[in-house]
Amino acid sequence: MSEISHQSLPPGALEALQRPSNNGNRFTIRKLSDFDQGVLAVVRSQDTDPGALTHKFDLLCPRSGCGSIILKAGVGQWVESASVELDLTKEPLHPDLPALPTPPATVQWWLVTPSMMEFENIGFTRPVRQDVAAKSLKLLICAECDLGPLGWCEEGGSEFWLACSRVGYR
Ligand SMILES: [Zn+2]
Repeated sequence: MSEISHQSLPPGALEALQRPSNNGNRFTIRKLSDFDQGVLAVVRSQDTDPGALTHKFDLLCPRSGCGSIILKAGVGQWVESASVELDLTKEPLHPDLPALPTPPATVQWWLVTPSMMEFENIGFTRPVRQDVAAKSLKLLICAECDLGPLGWCEEGGSEFWLACSRVGYR
């Protein structure tokens, strides 16, 4: 393409051509780290309990080019509690997944209850057992592209925990 024909393209056309075309998602996936105020920028009071905080954006798979909707706005409850070791394999972390602090350091979660029916789309791994005393955990992953772990739940449990830093916001 010559410089001249380049310049004759309508505004925005070049960006449109350069956009990944493998799916129809046209929205930007924002990460928690994209907000100057961090989690403060994404919370609002919960409708049913003004003392509790929820997310004012839909939660998405954080992978660029995926963005599958995981949870509708207003469903998860903000909780700060002990971190959980989710990255049990030796493989390097995907660039869209920030490392979580080592327990007992705390981390911010979106807590979803009482069942997986609250989710729009979510995938689960097979149960993983961290040690003999621990309960069996299942890891939450994107239902579309398998990116994860995004969070965890206990096998057969009614609480589903998504790491605030490991989901996208729309
Ligand atoms: Zn995905």
